[in-house]
Amino acid sequence: MIKMTFSYSPCMKLKENGAKMTEIICGKCRQEMQEVELEQYEFEEGIVLENVKAMRCTNGHITFTEEQATDMEQRSEDIKKNAFRFVRSVSKSARSLVIRIPADLAKHLDITENSKIEMIPLGKKRFMVELK
Ligand SMILES: [Zn+2]
Repeated sequence: MIKMTFSYSPCMKLKENGAKMTEIICGKCRQEMQEVELEQYEFEEGIVLENVKAMRCTNGHITFTEEQATDMEQRSEDIKKNAFRFVRSVSKSARSLVIRIPADLAKHLDITENSKIEMIPLGKKRFMVELK
């Protein structure tokens, strides 16, 4: 998966243009911004959204209108609610700690007794388990 990161520019300026048109001006380089659709954007760590609407200037700076940010927040929440999850306690076996993999999850991911997995810490409260 290709992970795309953008410099988020919070100092977006709104400029009144004529009667009712509102232009969005890049807070970094003062160029006019246009609405674009990003293929992927990780608004919240670990939750990748697809086809995300954003504002982009000709220099490639990315920002979001309040409406766009609210939309991403809502979509991230929906994903969190609908993702199936399992809560397990950590137990001990000899000198190692053991997390049991629920049968449904093992079946879904095709994990068997001798499967090789890789564990990757993501910050201080999460880790990712990837099948090798
Ligand atoms: Zn810019």
